[in-house]
Amino acid sequence: MLPKLKEGQSVFLEITNPAHGGSGWEFGSCLWSPVKDRGGSEAWKIMKEVQVGDIIIHLLKSDEGYVWAGVSMVVTPLIQTIDEPPRPERWTNMSPYQRINLGQFNNLISPPTIGSFFREYNSSLREILHENKEGMFYVEYPTGGDLRVSQKYFAKVPPVLYDLFDDFSESLNFIVQFRNENSQVPTVNEPPYPDYTSPGRIEVITSRIVRDTALVRGIKSNFNWKCQVCGKRILLENSKYYAEGHHLKPLGGEYNGPDVKENIIILCPYHHAEFDYGSIAINPVTKKIIHSDPNNNYNDKDLVYERTDINDEFIRFHYDKIFWGEKLIDKTLNQ
Ligand SMILES: [Zn+2]
Repeated sequence: MLPKLKEGQSVFLEITNPAHGGSGWEFGSCLWSPVKDRGGSEAWKIMKEVQVGDIIIHLLKSDEGYVWAGVSMVVTPLIQTIDEPPRPERWTNMSPYQRINLGQFNNLISPPTIGSFFREYNSSLREILHENKEGMFYVEYPTGGDLRVSQKYFAKVPPVLYDLFDDFSESLNFIVQFRNENSQVPTVNEPPYPDYTSPGRIEVITSRIVRDTALVRGIKSNFNWKCQVCGKRILLENSKYYAEGHHLKPLGGEYNGPDVKENIIILCPYHHAEFDYGSIAINPVTKKIIHSDPNNNYNDKDLVYERTDINDEFIRFHYDKIFWGEKLIDKTLNQ
């Protein structure tokens, strides 16, 4: 049994093979493709239609042909990344890639072959095929031949086809259940941090506070746990990563910055400290990095990735008050 589709919820099909992915890009945990094919066209632009909460049906190539491996749900919007997956196979050296994080992968214990699906729903599938020529299946030449899976990696599933998968799932006693999708935030095993306390200026200087909330974890995941200054992330065990969220306008205290994504950038611990101490900032006009040491490697460099969701007001605040303002105070204290 598959979940009933809600208003605005779409279903897509991933057609892939076990070679794709690898550590950090595991099957069922994300969708990924190059942005452009080698000819330069946006061959996988359909991935840009995917929205958080959409359902993904996974087909995986096996020795018996394609099997229905499971169903998952989209948990983050599409991310563009220069990261090459560990086993890109024929998609090697095709950076940039696009990635969509998935959650709640419900896998079939004994994945049925797609051939058995084709046999069970042969006539209905041919009707759907007639209506959806750009679909995920095709009829082998000559006309009237067998149904085959298209080699296209990713395709949209019309509701009528989803209903067939739903029917098929019942015959397999496969029950897909999603927990409340609104609260779905990918989690990583990160060390616990002390509770946040109101940061007066002295506290900011003497004990840096690193909060780790669901909001911050979600943003980290969206941006692959990569520091926006240097692109580095800390690898923990089991392909988990560590990064820190930084509030451009500090929370609470005299500044009373808000705890919203528009105010949070993702940094490595080193650059987080530099942001807290005002050694580094984002120039609100050029959006380039500015460092108090003009010879610093990152001074006047572009950020590693763009964050169009950051509010300019907070970039300006950090630049004016923390970078230019408090830096002088810090220097005095450090002597
Ligand atoms: Zn960094």
